Amino acid sequence: MIVKVLGSSGAEFPGFNPPAFLIDGTLLLDAGTIGAKLSAREQSAIKHILITHSHLDHIKGIPFLADNIIITRASHSVTLYGVRETLDSLKKNLLNDKIWPDFTKISASIDPVLKLRPITPSKMFRVGDYAIRGYRVNHTVPAVGYIVRDSKGKTLLYTGDTGPTEEIWKARGRLDAIIIEVSFPDAMEELARKTGHMTPAMLVAELTKLKGFSGRVFITHPKPQYIKQIRKEIARLGMQQIELLQDGKSYRI
Ligand SMILES: [Zn+2]
Ligand SMILES: [Zn+2]
Repeated sequence: MIVKVLGSSGAEFPGFNPPAFLIDGTLLLDAGTIGAKLSAREQSAIKHILITHSHLDHIKGIPFLADNIIITRASHSVTLYGVRETLDSLKKNLLNDKIWPDFTKISASIDPVLKLRPITPSKMFRVGDYAIRGYRVNHTVPAVGYIVRDSKGKTLLYTGDTGPTEEIWKARGRLDAIIIEVSFPDAMEELARKTGHMTPAMLVAELTKLKGFSGRVFITHPKPQYIKQIRKEIARLGMQQIELLQDGKSYRI
């Protein structure tokens, strides 16, 4: 499994893009960044998008992707997966023919450009060769993290945005790598808890819930304004398995 990081920041600045992780060129985990990083051909290879929650920094690329599809008149459609509350919110507040056209009704062929597929938390569903489960996590709006297993059994866990959480850590089965959020430095723990995010110290507490996990731990969603402090605090933990993701880099899981 190759994971290309299109963005892994908790805000937007030059060189810092909102979260989106492209798996093997076709399956996108969150959609904060698409068109700013992918060519027309790369964008047209995306067939499925797993959305963790409705916040703008995780869906921002979708309206522009849909527009790019329709202007080519390609008979291409992209399926969006998420819990029902997330997809309802997307349809009501974004694809509502006011902020942006309703691309769940517009098509160049039989299928609409965007298809919405609600998922049931904890229940396995298949997307091509991938077996996927979403688990409820603890954020300020309904949110899930995903566990994605490819046909070779390689398995990635992605938390999305979350404060301290439980269910996703109880999922059975082998994990090869996890992508977990750390948004704020330790001094801002109160704000992190209030807004459903984490600090390096809170990260350590979460990892102890994953008893005995020795695989790689990738950090996403740091606020660029505090990136130096967060980097320092993570280095101070002295845990070799943890590293901050780099935008634009591909990782083999
Ligand atoms: Zn969020
Ligand atoms: Zn976010």
